[in-house]
Amino acid sequence: MNTIYGGREYNEDKSIFWQVIFVFVDYHVHLDKLDWNIETINDLTNVAKSKGVDSIGVVVHTKILSGFEPLYSHVFKDGQNHKKLKFDKSIDEYLSLLEYAKKEGYPVLTGLEVCYAPEGEEFLKSKLGEYPYDFLIGSVHLIESRHFKTAVEFYGNTEMVGRMYYERVLKAARSGLFNIIGHIEIARREGIPSLDYYPELLDEICRELVKNNCAVEINTKWLTKRDYLVPDKTTLEYMFNAGVKVVFSSDAHHKGRIGYEKDKAISAIKAAGYESFSIVG
Ligand SMILES: [Zn+2]
Ligand SMILES: [Zn+2]
Repeated sequence: MNTIYGGREYNEDKSIFWQVIFVFVDYHVHLDKLDWNIETINDLTNVAKSKGVDSIGVVVHTKILSGFEPLYSHVFKDGQNHKKLKFDKSIDEYLSLLEYAKKEGYPVLTGLEVCYAPEGEEFLKSKLGEYPYDFLIGSVHLIESRHFKTAVEFYGNTEMVGRMYYERVLKAARSGLFNIIGHIEIARREGIPSLDYYPELLDEICRELVKNNCAVEINTKWLTKRDYLVPDKTTLEYMFNAGVKVVFSSDAHHKGRIGYEKDKAISAIKAAGYESFSIVG
């Protein structure tokens, strides 16, 4: 799974009868803080190649894009001060760079990491239809208008905040808007239980993911701070048995992290029963 390989059979005239090629895709490489030009794309894809990553799914956060302000109106209404909500970048500039890179033959896919909030779902339904993307990641970053840490402080109950978090993940899966759900158990860093602690939610999330042909990412950025992967083994095994697809994601914010710890991710999905990562979009 590290490099392109596969099988091939020939016709008698030596033309190819069938061919299978497996490619390794890193579906979560951020362009947010890098220079938006073709040299950056060249750089990223060269580093990817050197790490056995054949193709990269480029993304930016919706919180930096002009035009996505209504997605966060419930946050502004609540008077929460989120300094990182900037909306100072142009989506047209982002998409034209990726389009140009593809024309030039760079192995890139065009994506977005959408900050999913049920409060903004109606807005997303129309906004995301405005442009063509190869794939969309739906990530829950906020509980109502609060980050996980402040939500835990505010409610004083990790079990309850965990339920609120996974209920939002369920709504993201059910929305049918996304190809991938981002870092599904990330709230664990604030002491929130893993998804298998809520078996009925785990089951319902899996059913919605399968129904909507939406994958879950194995996000290796987590390994920079913790010594276990998310989703954890039990959740991953349940997902395998339920038929949920998985993709690889480094969540890299700079080129050095592309393909980060991909061998650990490969071992984790194999231990859960998967033969390979999926291709989405
Ligand atoms: Zn995220
Ligand atoms: Zn990300």
